[in-house]
Amino acid sequence: MSTGAQNPHQVALQQLDIAARYLNLDPGIHEMLRHTKRELIVNFPVKMDDGSIKIFTGYRVHHSAILGPTKGGIRYHPDVTLEEMRGLAMLMTWKCGVVNIPYGGAKGGVVCDPKKMSEGELERLTRRYATEISIMMDPEGDIPAPDVGTNPQVMAWIMDTYSMHRGYTTPAVVTGKPVEVGGSLGRYEATGRGVSFIVLETLKHLGMGLDGTTVAVQGFGNVGSVSARLLHEAGCRVVAVSDSQGGIYDGHGLDPKRVLVHKRKAGTVVGYDGADTITNQELLSLPVDVLVPAALEGVLTEANADQVRARIIVEGANGPTTPKADEVLRGKGVFVVPDILANAGGVTVSYFEWVQSLQRFFWTEEEINERLHRVMVRSFQEVLRIAQEKGVDMRIAALILAVGRIARATQIRGIYP
Ligand code: NAD
Repeated sequence: MSTGAQNPHQVALQQLDIAARYLNLDPGIHEMLRHTKRELIVNFPVKMDDGSIKIFTGYRVHHSAILGPTKGGIRYHPDVTLEEMRGLAMLMTWKCGVVNIPYGGAKGGVVCDPKKMSEGELERLTRRYATEISIMMDPEGDIPAPDVGTNPQVMAWIMDTYSMHRGYTTPAVVTGKPVEVGGSLGRYEATGRGVSFIVLETLKHLGMGLDGTTVAVQGFGNVGSVSARLLHEAGCRVVAVSDSQGGIYDGHGLDPKRVLVHKRKAGTVVGYDGADTITNQELLSLPVDVLVPAALEGVLTEANADQVRARIIVEGANGPTTPKADEVLRGKGVFVVPDILANAGGVTVSYFEWVQSLQRFFWTEEEINERLHRVMVRSFQEVLRIAQEKGVDMRIAALILAVGRIARATQIRGIYP
């Protein structure tokens, strides 16, 4: 969860400390959760297309393995650091804890710019990185997934590399695979679908009907476009969406499916017929019922939080709200559903994919969506109950739920030896 000034690790530690205070956490367990379990740094060579050899640095960090195998994405980005991996691994622990799936948190990454590499270079980098981290990666122990800069193809290469070393196909070693090699139906839509379930639960909780409910979505990629489409189909009026090039607004409501067709042709939502062009900043301060930031981290800051006029914010993106902005929004009475609950649909269906891969038995898309619905609604209700009982906001309540679960499991398992 990024914050501008603070890095994701600092924010994750700060949030753990808040939850620890509410839970009156044993100081030893608190200290244990402040540390990652293991960290691997690998420096490895890759043969580039021009014949040269380039050395890359990669990481894999496991934060907690108390509830089960560790789970977390692999990021390919020039700014990847060990400190970032630590924070993101910790957040994955909390996210899995909130939705109560038997996983701990992990994160991995390689310092590289995938946009500047050929497909062949990316495949060689991926296969070598997968081999280097194979001492940390295992279908029973640590299961990577896609993150920024990686995709289902990269997961397929990791799965294939691991399988070649094992001598047999091991699909459960990664999730987010293409459906053709054991991926799950419904995985692509899972995060946006989860976001839409959470928006609908929030509206129900606040006694707001669907009819005429206005929604603005920042980011029109995987999470944003699916959220917008499903909320439109549920009866909400999606009045604004945006991408990195700008936003569009139509007070009568946009049709997200048609916006997607336009975006595929034009490369951006901007220019969609009949809609006004707005900036991303204007989108964040529209007078709508629901705002879904589903693009980048750190977009709601102390500088702009005061201009937010939405009654509800559902965090599709990871860390869109800085801790300072959170304070401002709390003061304004905005109902914020935090990322570790709102976008947990992705890791939940990753868990379904893993279960299917282990069993070699596949569920229908309806079964996946139905199970996802149950998990999201149950988790929302659990977080809401804690928020009401303890008089805290949904972010703190979600952390209390997650950290409490992991702390209890640690106590029950005991400290080895
Ligand atoms: P994506 O790349 O598919 O889409 C990102 C969208 O944000 C694109 O439309 C892009 O144009 C837009 N964008 C980029 N820069 C922007 C800017 N400056 N202003 C406005 N829009 C901008 O990514 P995604 O998978 O949809 O992920 C979005 C967020 O959701 C990220 O924070 C990600 O970590 C989080 N998330 C994704 C998943 C998942 O399953 N995909 C799961 C959990 C959390």
